[in-house]
Amino acid sequence: MVAKGDMLWAWAKDSAALERGECGGAVTALLKYALESGEVDGVLTVEKGVDLYDAKPVFITNPEDIAKAAGSLHCGTLLMPKIIKKFLNGARDMKIAVTMKGCDAKAFYELVKRQQINIDNVLTIGLNCGGSVSPIEARVMIEEKFGLNPDDIVKEEIDKGQFIVVTKDGEHKGIKIDELEEEGYGRRANCQRCKTKIPRQCDLACGNWGVIGDKAGKATFVEVCSDKGAALVTKAEGKAVETAKPAGPALDIRGKVEGAMFKLGDKCRKEQFEKLGEGKERLNYIMDQTSRCIKCYQCIENCPICYCVECSTKKSHLVDPGDVTPPFMFHLIRYSHIADSCVNCGQCQELCAMDIPNALFMHALQLEMQDMFGYEPGVNLDLPILSLVEEPAERKRLSDTGTDQIFDIFGQKE
Ligand code: FAD
Ligand code: SF4
Ligand code: SF4
Ligand code: SF4
Ligand code: SF4
Repeated sequence: MVAKGDMLWAWAKDSAALERGECGGAVTALLKYALESGEVDGVLTVEKGVDLYDAKPVFITNPEDIAKAAGSLHCGTLLMPKIIKKFLNGARDMKIAVTMKGCDAKAFYELVKRQQINIDNVLTIGLNCGGSVSPIEARVMIEEKFGLNPDDIVKEEIDKGQFIVVTKDGEHKGIKIDELEEEGYGRRANCQRCKTKIPRQCDLACGNWGVIGDKAGKATFVEVCSDKGAALVTKAEGKAVETAKPAGPALDIRGKVEGAMFKLGDKCRKEQFEKLGEGKERLNYIMDQTSRCIKCYQCIENCPICYCVECSTKKSHLVDPGDVTPPFMFHLIRYSHIADSCVNCGQCQELCAMDIPNALFMHALQLEMQDMFGYEPGVNLDLPILSLVEEPAERKRLSDTGTDQIFDIFGQKE
């Protein structure tokens, strides 16, 4: 009997999952078991498209197809909860299981608390995440830095601080992530700043950190984070997966790796935010960068917090229609609506047609708001700050006092 809070090593019983899985295939086996046993009606996960840079979401209803999606795609920079909201009706009318990185888990919580996804119908299998690499930048990095043809790569992995590629001729080449990132390659900038490494918001949090000895690379470390997760592992144990108690210093090692990743995240935040400058300097920088905007709406389409049926950026009294470049108001609207809840998923930057570092601006704002108001998005189901504002009362206060300072009530920050 497995309980919430348990930590175990797990691996698949099924040989296809064991072989094809990234670290012993437990995740694949659990997803297959959930589907076969009727726990869920479908599984949303990620599979290789035309090549390994092309991670594509896949919704699987036939248990036999689950193994095809086994393995980790480090260029898989998709955001799963927005897909659930947009294409699976927020899981309102079916039960699904989904694999989630940390940013997915945070976006999931933000959509759940806004009643855009029915959490009761979703089983979340979290994946620990050291970072992901933009598919386009991965190709450039492999060509320029690894000196290899990106089309010759058959496997990529991130292990022991290195980005490792394997060619179709069996050549292995690994380069330290630190070295890659110093030269502007490597993980996405938002991943470098990310400190959600083990997604404990999920029902299960799975990864290779803390799997040592004979089992290294052949089992997944599973942290059981909810009763729902515990029930799944309890039922699947012995049928779909084998489990063992983590041996020796496994927990210690896992804790140390997570701690080291937090430190690295802090260092990257400091470096990246310093480059933004402060106050007017920052504002000018943001205005300068956003002046490239072509109003393609990708930032809005892909942001988990942006799902409004009538988007204010499309209202002619706020943003003149037909103007490209749009006025700065276009961006101000997004900043004011989202800054408290940005989960640093990077979608608005990675998919921006003009490579505007939108996620960097938004994450910097979000952290400042977190310092001011104490609200941390994506970690639990607490409501965001903006939901606490009584809009008619606030409008009246602004009108009565003649101020446009919405934060006056909290005192001015020097
Ligand atoms: P498998 O049986 O191989 O199943 C993996 C499942 O994940 C499959 O269903 C697959 O479709 C799905 N998947 C693959 N890529 C993605 C993606 N990009 N987004 C969402 N779902 C996906 N573990 C660590 O301990 N440390 C790390 O630094 C770390 N970094 C990771 C970075 C990324 C981008 C990913 C995707 C995973 C990372 N993991 C990390 C988790 C680890 O690689 C394994 O996924 C985990 O140990 C489970 O292994 P498994 O053999 O049981 O999984
Ligand atoms: Fe992983 Fe964090 Fe990057 Fe998301 S933002 S892909 S959780 S490192
Ligand atoms: Fe993700 Fe950008 Fe939205 Fe923040 S603003 S949640 S980084 S898409
Ligand atoms: Fe909604 Fe504002 Fe995002 Fe538009 S910019 S979708 S109004 S949150
Ligand atoms: Fe502008 Fe980039 Fe947003 Fe497109 S994705 S609307 S170019 S900021």
